[in-house]
Amino acid sequence: MTDAPLKLFNSLTRSLEVFEPVHPGEARVYTCGPTVYNYPHIGNMRAYVFADVLGRTLSWKGYKLTHVINITDVGHLTDDADAGEDKMEKMAAERAQSIWDIAEHYKQAYWADVRALNIRQPAQWTVATDYVPQMIEFAKGIADKHCYELESGLYFDVSTVSDYGRLARANTEEGEGRIEAVEGKRNAADFAIWRKTPPGESRQMEWDSPWGRGAPGWHLECSVMSGEVLGFPFDIHTGGIDHREIHHPNEIAQNQAHCCTNGLDDPRNSGARIWMHNNFLVERSGKMSKSSGEFLRLQLLVDKGYHPLAYRLMCLQAHYRSELEFNWEGLGAALTRLKRIVTQIRNLKSGEGVLSEALDLLAKGKLNPATLSNPQRAAFADFENAIADDLNTPAALVAFEKLIGLKGISSGWTVETLMCAFKMDDVLGLNLLSLTRADLRIRPKVATITEAEIEAALSRRKEARAAKDFATSDAIRVELAAAGVEVMDGDPLGWEWKLA
Ligand code: AMP
Ligand code: ZN
Repeated sequence: MTDAPLKLFNSLTRSLEVFEPVHPGEARVYTCGPTVYNYPHIGNMRAYVFADVLGRTLSWKGYKLTHVINITDVGHLTDDADAGEDKMEKMAAERAQSIWDIAEHYKQAYWADVRALNIRQPAQWTVATDYVPQMIEFAKGIADKHCYELESGLYFDVSTVSDYGRLARANTEEGEGRIEAVEGKRNAADFAIWRKTPPGESRQMEWDSPWGRGAPGWHLECSVMSGEVLGFPFDIHTGGIDHREIHHPNEIAQNQAHCCTNGLDDPRNSGARIWMHNNFLVERSGKMSKSSGEFLRLQLLVDKGYHPLAYRLMCLQAHYRSELEFNWEGLGAALTRLKRIVTQIRNLKSGEGVLSEALDLLAKGKLNPATLSNPQRAAFADFENAIADDLNTPAALVAFEKLIGLKGISSGWTVETLMCAFKMDDVLGLNLLSLTRADLRIRPKVATITEAEIEAALSRRKEARAAKDFATSDAIRVELAAAGVEVMDGDPLGWEWKLA
């Protein structure tokens, strides 16, 4: 095994940096979580698959991981800059429902997707409305030096900190933060850290504060929850690439104000040392937009017969910093690849006592590179180098498949191959210990035939073929095809049928 140092791309410096923990032996990570006003789309879930792979990598490298993901249930406006309405309040008004019920429903839906994608549970889920008193304290602490009050709320003056917007590379060819004009703002990029409820209006969620009754700003929430739970400075802050433009620069400005620090040349001054951003999942026809009727939720993929882990694999096939285009063919290819992997693992497991021996040795920490064959050792080193190189999952997958597909090593090596495969899956998170071929065969919602009926028809067909009654056998094949089932004789993957 290699001791390749873990290199991560820091958006703040726009460069690869060797990970050096703030607290020796530990890794503290904060991930901007969902705003629970609607179901997450699969693009949102790409952000959490990425954060999960990061967390798994840190654990696998031996760091004691503390991962925090927040749940935003107040304060996120329909525009990331200061425009629009509160997403939660808007949805509650449209549905004539309690905002708390909406938050609970969509939080549970998000958690269901988290489990389906085999994303590990973080050490803590922080819910924004649980931290409002701390947010008010934080705002009080920075108000005098860094904020000013307008009729609509308490605003952060971005000119009071140095290097504002460095993360976004604002005003360079790399990008320019969007800004919203509010009358009285001193600088266009100033943002509300406390929003007052307008006179004559009421919100379902509002709290008293020194700046009037109202609600915290979304940027304030993440600064407070990350600092409270992980302590400044912590190691890594993650989010989607859109957050690099406004949300995270604003968090950084607040963190600088709170920590009474200045220039960002000292990386500790930003609250987190490393800021990491996943690129977007894109879809050409606009189905990702939550305002389009049937948008791309994980459940839609399942309804169409795709296992959620095929989507996870699709994410792993691209580097997290590359844009990933979603289309159904691509998802189908990922599912086929996953089936092949699961079949190979099943074949490896099938030797007598092999699985229990591999698990037993792994539990005892006995994966010793010296005991591996040369090709196994090479595949394992390729995997480690790929993952240590800014989480290069596409290359890591290739190394993984090289390992499980190794030919020509005697069956005496199967235990080691399985050990290496499971160890790699600690990072990939494809649940290969328990995932079966049957799990991957999901019946689309629209299918008219049950699995039991398919199996019954197939066994009748098998009997007919054994009796050389090819007319009956063909008739059954045609019958099944009419019900949307394609019979796959001699399928190299070992699938007898699939829903067409
Ligand atoms: P939100 O619930 O809107 O706060 O978004 C949750 C997370 O999803 C954030 O980290 C966003 O940056 C991220 N995100 C939003 N859209 C996409 C997308 N199409 N692809 C990848 N990540 C996304
Ligand atoms: Zn955030």
